[in-house]
Amino acid sequence: MRTLDKIYIDGQFVTPHGEELFDLFNPATEEQIGQVRLGDAEDARAAVAAAKRAFPAFSHTSKAERIAMLHRLHDAVAPHAEALAAAMVAEYGAPAYFVDFSARRSASVFLDMAKTLEDFDFSQTIGRAEVTLQPLGVVAAITPWNSNYGFICGKLAGAIAAGCTVVIKPSEMSATQTDVLMQALHEAGLPPGVFNIVNGRGDVVGAELSSHPDIAKVTFTGSTAVGRTILRAASETMKRVTLELGGKGPNIILEDADLEAAIPTAAMMGFGNSGQACVAGTRILAPKSRLPEILERLKTTVAAVKVGDTTDPSVMIGPMVSRKQWDRVQGYIRLGQEEGAQLLIGGEGRPDGLDRGWFVRPTVFIGVTNDMRIAREEIFGPVLSVIPFENEEEAIAIANDTIYGLQAYVASSDLAHARAVADRLESGRVVINGAPHEPLAPFGGFKQSGIGREYGRFGLEAYLEPRAVLA
Ligand code: NAD
Repeated sequence: MRTLDKIYIDGQFVTPHGEELFDLFNPATEEQIGQVRLGDAEDARAAVAAAKRAFPAFSHTSKAERIAMLHRLHDAVAPHAEALAAAMVAEYGAPAYFVDFSARRSASVFLDMAKTLEDFDFSQTIGRAEVTLQPLGVVAAITPWNSNYGFICGKLAGAIAAGCTVVIKPSEMSATQTDVLMQALHEAGLPPGVFNIVNGRGDVVGAELSSHPDIAKVTFTGSTAVGRTILRAASETMKRVTLELGGKGPNIILEDADLEAAIPTAAMMGFGNSGQACVAGTRILAPKSRLPEILERLKTTVAAVKVGDTTDPSVMIGPMVSRKQWDRVQGYIRLGQEEGAQLLIGGEGRPDGLDRGWFVRPTVFIGVTNDMRIAREEIFGPVLSVIPFENEEEAIAIANDTIYGLQAYVASSDLAHARAVADRLESGRVVINGAPHEPLAPFGGFKQSGIGREYGRFGLEAYLEPRAVLA
């Protein structure tokens, strides 16, 4: 069993001042696999001080220098893809297809940002004014456990491109992955203090960063509840914030959809990353005219979904990250039944043949109305709700009747039809017919799914502040 006892401050691997040990588990076996020594507020302050010292020189680096640094970060992370993937499987239990995507993307996100930077103008003339975009200052980046190193790399790429220095507070539950990434990022040889990594609890290190006067911006991915806490703390010193929060994505199956393709896609979009995904399409909106066929296909598709230890590449759904998360998902499966919804497939308890590990039965509820809590709250597990609609107007109204607005889905055999529906959805992203990822497009939510956007030029602008000089 390993004890991870290093954080990264000012270009050095250091032992934290904090002494608390936090247990790390393999969620597929429930066995403890290690411990991490957590940093405390003093460690957070030391990291902020290092980032503050590094900022004046770093903010004056040229675009070409920063493009070169992004390439170095890519080259440093790419060879560690296998080690990152292995750590993610051991510590988080994510399925192979997700881990592969995640590990490759953690490196390629630096190249994507380098490309964005090449095409980006930091100055423009507006009337009499010369407007330049200035780096904001020291950025705090706080990440969740469901894609820890992917979000670290995405946030770091944007900050570096802009000329900001960074203090990263990874999820305390992802310390094995963070450890591999920390070594990799160090190999990029960036100037000391440009990025710093402090493991720690959210309410200790995260809270210190969200209120520290020398932090100019917080970029956070995590729950809406913690997002609110950060926003309140940040308001004291008017920090800029990018908040990537929860979701309750609608998946509208239009009447003209090709169900042969739409139903497996709906299962994939609902169960992706074991259902522990902010972008999951968890509300399947189905036309009443085709409901029997949709339910039949959904039941057959979900019955074939393999759940288990994700070292087996044919497994689509791995365990929940923790006992706490398993209990929470079980609670929602119970709640759905109490609210009057029926189980099409799945239910409480572990899947057959799995007597240990935090595995959940892939579950689909029918007879759901959009006012039930299972349709309104983010469950963060493989639990989907089918909500029938009479006509398209009603489908759009149900889709938009949520506090969230992160990612929505539309299935139709007519692209123009799907686009017309997409145009009416209150959602940061709309994916038509399971379209592939677009890494340069903005990502982020409407409404309580967050504030701001990441990736591409919208993501870069979020680390910059315009200054207008009039002459
Ligand atoms: P979480 O909000 O519990 O924790 C996220 C991070 O915030 C962790 O690093 C945690 O230590 C830290 N934190 C906790 N309390 C804090 C505080 N008071 N101040 C500052 N930091 C604090 O989220 P989680 O359980 O790790 O992740 C799951 C959530 O993340 C889900 O709600 C999911 O929808 C959301 N998420 C959103 C996106 C997106 O891009 N929109 C992506 C992935 C996950």
